[in-house]
Amino acid sequence: MRNLLLILVCVGLSTCSAVPTLLTQVLTLGELRVVTRNSPISHYVGVDGPMGPEYELARGLADAMGVRLTIYTPDSFDQTLDELVSRRAHIAAAGLSVTSARRRQVDFGPAYQTVRPQVIARSGGRQAGSVEDLVDARIEVIAGSSHAEVLLELRQAHPQLAWQPVQGAEVDELLYRLAAGDIDFTVVDSTEFIVARHIYPDLRVAFDLGEAEQVAWALSRQPGDHSLRERVNGYFAQIEAEGVLAGIFRRYLEPVQEYDYVSTRAFVNHFDSRLPMYRSYFVEAARETGQDWRLLAAVGYQESHWNPQAVSPTGVRGIMMLTQRTATALDVDDRVDPYQSIMGGARYLSMMRERIPERIDEPDRTWLALAAYNIGWGHLEDARILTEINDGNPDSWEDVRAHLPLLTQRKWYSRVRRGFARGWQPVHYVDNIQRYYSILQWMTASERWELPDEDDEAPQYEIYGSVGTAAGAP
Ligand code: GLU
Repeated sequence: MRNLLLILVCVGLSTCSAVPTLLTQVLTLGELRVVTRNSPISHYVGVDGPMGPEYELARGLADAMGVRLTIYTPDSFDQTLDELVSRRAHIAAAGLSVTSARRRQVDFGPAYQTVRPQVIARSGGRQAGSVEDLVDARIEVIAGSSHAEVLLELRQAHPQLAWQPVQGAEVDELLYRLAAGDIDFTVVDSTEFIVARHIYPDLRVAFDLGEAEQVAWALSRQPGDHSLRERVNGYFAQIEAEGVLAGIFRRYLEPVQEYDYVSTRAFVNHFDSRLPMYRSYFVEAARETGQDWRLLAAVGYQESHWNPQAVSPTGVRGIMMLTQRTATALDVDDRVDPYQSIMGGARYLSMMRERIPERIDEPDRTWLALAAYNIGWGHLEDARILTEINDGNPDSWEDVRAHLPLLTQRKWYSRVRRGFARGWQPVHYVDNIQRYYSILQWMTASERWELPDEDDEAPQYEIYGSVGTAAGAP
């Protein structure tokens, strides 16, 4: 009898059983297993491999623990927590909102972001200003998402509210369906939409749905064992104190903060109509000069909107807008020839990059090189000197960016060698390229378009537990 009691006690308390703590399991395995999702602010596969804020955060923890990182996406977002419960993953880093239903299944690390769930509509499509307007509309949300939970709660006050949780879909696919007119509304996190609106300019926020939500990592749970949570808490405390956490999100979200409908529409159109003609040239130029083709394409877009006939009043020409002098120096004899222009521009940028002092790391190196490409090496040097005079760091793009506009003020430009320059110009220039580059990275990410083919079976819908298909959906 006493033995039985002991066994019963031990079943509930890992401390008196032989089960190692979760942290020990990770260390013994030598591997941190992280489940994530495919989204521009979580994780996606870029030209140099995986990227995205969640990926970088997970990478940081694995490195700090000295273990291998295995990061993967389940077939469907609603399987994310199952991966933790079944212990196939230790951590879910997937832009997860902390909800009471989820708390019953898993632990959470510290909140690192606040998001607002937003109802998204299509311009020219059905509009809504409040929950009442959603009744009888075709609404799809990601199955198992916090948005599905919020809708379920709202249904108590609005019994007619109906929606379809879609399995196997990501934010991007639902927005695609909304833009195509297949549905009337979807719900996504505000942070997701900050990026997505650059790809779907005809979509807009109808209204915020419910309260703001806290986003955190979900953690595998083992009774009486806080080891993993403590390690994760310690990690976040450290990267927060060091500014690393804010830096990661700034890097992904800042370039896309600025939004303007007309130029976004033009960009998306040109992505389809013009880029395909020149893409292989950008790829070749990138290979030859050791740069990312999407960065070169972003420069080309900022310069000419990928128009080989572009001419500016100052006489620069072609896709990469080379001056006659630069073209001659680079052996470009026909500036309006797209191939020659792209090759010349890529070489010129690479030359600028090589002139940047070796101690300066990426990405500052690239941004400083771009500023030099735009305003000229000498003026950039002057701006870096002014940065230093004002106790800024001349090797940091952020600091130089803040000081470049001083080149328009006599008080400042009189103190440097080359004098006056339109210093705000390279600021806008680099800001725009950063934005185009971010969007291009996501638009061309290898995982992004793994959507079902036209002929494939319709996506599966789980309608409050029962399973239907697109064809059967109302
Ligand atoms: N934060 C949402 C959740 O926890 C997912 C993000 C989205 O679907 O926009 O389910």
